[in-house]
Amino acid sequence: MNVVACVKQTPDSAAKLQVENKHVTWGDAPLIVNPWDEYAVEESLLLKEKFGGKAVAISMGPETAVEALKTCLAVGCDETYLVSDPVLKGSDVSSTAYALAKAIGKVGEVDLALFGRQAIDGDSGLTAAQVARYLGWTLLTYVIKIVEIDPAAKTIKVERMMEEGRQVCTAKLPAVVSVVKGINEPRYPSFMGIRKAAKATIPVWKAADLGLDTAKIGAAAAAVAWVDIYPMPVKETKVEMIQGSSPAEIAANLVDKIMAEKVI
Ligand SMILES: Cc1cc2nc3c(=O)[nH]c(=O)nc-3n(C[C@H](O)[C@H](O)[C@H](O)COP(=O)(O)OP(=O)(O)OC[C@H]3O[C@@H](n4cnc5c(N)ncnc54)[C@H](O)[C@@H]3O)c2cc1C
Repeated sequence: MNVVACVKQTPDSAAKLQVENKHVTWGDAPLIVNPWDEYAVEESLLLKEKFGGKAVAISMGPETAVEALKTCLAVGCDETYLVSDPVLKGSDVSSTAYALAKAIGKVGEVDLALFGRQAIDGDSGLTAAQVARYLGWTLLTYVIKIVEIDPAAKTIKVERMMEEGRQVCTAKLPAVVSVVKGINEPRYPSFMGIRKAAKATIPVWKAADLGLDTAKIGAAAAAVAWVDIYPMPVKETKVEMIQGSSPAEIAANLVDKIMAEKVI
């Protein structure tokens, strides 16, 4: 079973978003593996350990994203690929998914493409669905458990997380699966893994290597332009301590106050 985990490098979750000259930035915040994607990587490793085959991680982004892929190598991924090309800059979700789908295709025979539920910077949660569309594969989102896989019959059974319960689904492979926290406990890199990753050279795939149509990628092709991002206005709140000589009087004063303010 060959499994690909798509991994985005994102700013640290504590980073503050800023807009400078209409460009979105997180300043000098440290860059990390998108926290949701750690679950996708871990699941790819668990599936490799159970069924054999290989665990592959792919990231699209600037050259700095090799560091995210090195983290994937350090925890045990067999292969990692960076999709990086200046012509991809400014790509929207559809273009990103198009490039990732082509990269998954270039890996060769892949049974499962795993994604995190969303990226903590872009936050659309749409990439997995768009990749499934480009590949023409089954899509299973919000998966909290891979119950079973039959590699010979090419079928998968999963549990999807719902607001008030779980949904059990069966589907055909190959499939695109987005996973949620709780599906597993991501492992830490081993010392040997870190050393191996430090020495590794991550292959970089450019648009031409993937046969991408340049009319479908980059800022010019983006259907959605991010023209501004701004924080929500801070709500002004005031605190008033309700006074009284006894709990009953405090409660009565509180009721009067609530009635006067027409809260109820
Ligand atoms: C600075 C900046 C400017 C942007 N400007 C625009 C713009 O003008 N117009 C516009 O439409 N969008 C813009 N984007 C958004 C960009 O297109 C998205 O970040 C990208 O398409 C992925 O969508 P998402 O971040 O919402 O990921 P989600 O769909 O939330 O991610 C879900 C999962 O998909 C996978 N994934 C997502 N991205 C990648 C990746 N690059 N490599 C590997 N796996 C990935 C991960 O597994 C992730 O958990 C901008 C993003 C940034 C950071």
